[in-house]
Amino acid sequence: MTLLACPSCDMLHDVPDLPQGRRAYCLRCNHMLVSGRHTSLDRTLATGFAIAILIVFALFFPFLSIEELGFSNTTTLLGVAAAFLDGWLIPLTLAVTASIVAIPLIRVALLIYALFPIWRGRPPAPHAARAFRWSEALRPWSMAEIFVLGAAVALVKVADLATIGFGPAFWAFCAAVFIIAFERQITDAASIWSMLDNEP
Ligand SMILES: [Zn+2]
Repeated sequence: MTLLACPSCDMLHDVPDLPQGRRAYCLRCNHMLVSGRHTSLDRTLATGFAIAILIVFALFFPFLSIEELGFSNTTTLLGVAAAFLDGWLIPLTLAVTASIVAIPLIRVALLIYALFPIWRGRPPAPHAARAFRWSEALRPWSMAEIFVLGAAVALVKVADLATIGFGPAFWAFCAAVFIIAFERQITDAASIWSMLDNEP
């Protein structure tokens, strides 16, 4: 038996050790408390890899293009950030770049580090539990979705002044935002913790 608090409504449950593939739901709000072990690991790892690939892709491909009076210009995400690396905007630019790119990437790297060995049926990597705890702790600081919303709103506002086009990196970033939200839904922290308990 394990004592588990529902992540959604905090109700405490005594959850028995479930056979593989069985799920447990909160009695009050129906939030999933424990999912089938292996499918949950597969999905969390797959979303982790997908997020990492999409964000790295978004860094190097054109993020947006602006065209006015026959002149056109395309820029990458790093180009956007670099454009503001000047004077008092430097700390702000670094904070924004960290919260939209660095923190989501560090989070999935920690997640993959903690889960990949278990998924392969090996014992957990050294400090895997700490890596998973940090990855969960960084979750609120990963703000890719706020950036995408902000960029979309800002670009709609300047659409009258110039012709704006979204590049492949913008769409990759949008996809990453949806997958990050999905990953949050499917990550079964309780069963991951019970797997990490085998750490030496
Ligand atoms: Zn609940």
